[in-house]
Amino acid sequence: MEVEYYDPEIGEGIEALIRPNTKLVHTEAPGSNTFEMQDIRLIAKIAHRHDCVVTMDNTWATPLYFRPLDFGVDVSIHATTKYPSGHSDIIMGSVSANAKHWPKLEEARITLGICGAPDDSYQILRGLRTMGVRLAHHQKSALEIAQWLEGRADVSRVLHPALPSFPGHEIWKRDFKGATGVFSFVLKGEPAVARRKAAAFLDSLTFFGLGWSWGGYESLAVLVNLSDRRIRKAPEDGAVIRLQIGLEDVADLVKDLERGFAAAAEA
Ligand SMILES: *Cc1c(COP(=O)(O)O)cnc(C)c1O
Repeated sequence: MEVEYYDPEIGEGIEALIRPNTKLVHTEAPGSNTFEMQDIRLIAKIAHRHDCVVTMDNTWATPLYFRPLDFGVDVSIHATTKYPSGHSDIIMGSVSANAKHWPKLEEARITLGICGAPDDSYQILRGLRTMGVRLAHHQKSALEIAQWLEGRADVSRVLHPALPSFPGHEIWKRDFKGATGVFSFVLKGEPAVARRKAAAFLDSLTFFGLGWSWGGYESLAVLVNLSDRRIRKAPEDGAVIRLQIGLEDVADLVKDLERGFAAAAEA
């Protein structure tokens, strides 16, 4: 199997990358960690013209804020580990397909012997019942904090699709019904000091835990490693820190982040 990566903002340019043996176009919007938006409907239309299957990782938006099959995606993939679980205690995923691709998906599931554990399924089902109200809270708090970060001199950029300053904002506004609680910002700093500043920032946080996963009730922060990127390489204006904004009071979270910025300034 050969894989070729594409720039998420490639738009119609995706057609030039499709080769005679291309079978599948895998999409994700927004992109993990740096949150680039892509025009899913356009990419799906072009991919279908060349008989490719279109899959999408829709973990960030959840089906409440984006419905991939309505935009031409054939197979929608979701880490239910995140918002459907909501409590950081389950690892599970879901895959949904349109009618055309459902038989093949079902066959693959049987052949591979994939089964979700009953207790985990019960917890995910329970999580789904409160996901709507949790997401509304994550959305509101995360946007408040993103706007606050945008006003700071020690932040060079905030990577959040719901901010009008973000390059993919227009696509987000047109296609998505909401934004969830995960976004990143670039902590201003020359390449030589960026990592040290980020470490000091993260070390001084008390409310935010360190964590790679997200979607739970508690806030998390992590230094994003973009060193394996082939496209959309790491920014040079500072370290990328990803935040997952949980269900705590925004005032407490802001106080914690202020502590982080003070530590970064001294590092
Ligand atoms: C976390 C995550 C996954 C993987 O989920 P796990 O259940 O933790 O393996 C896949 N896609 C995205 C966008 C994620 O954030």
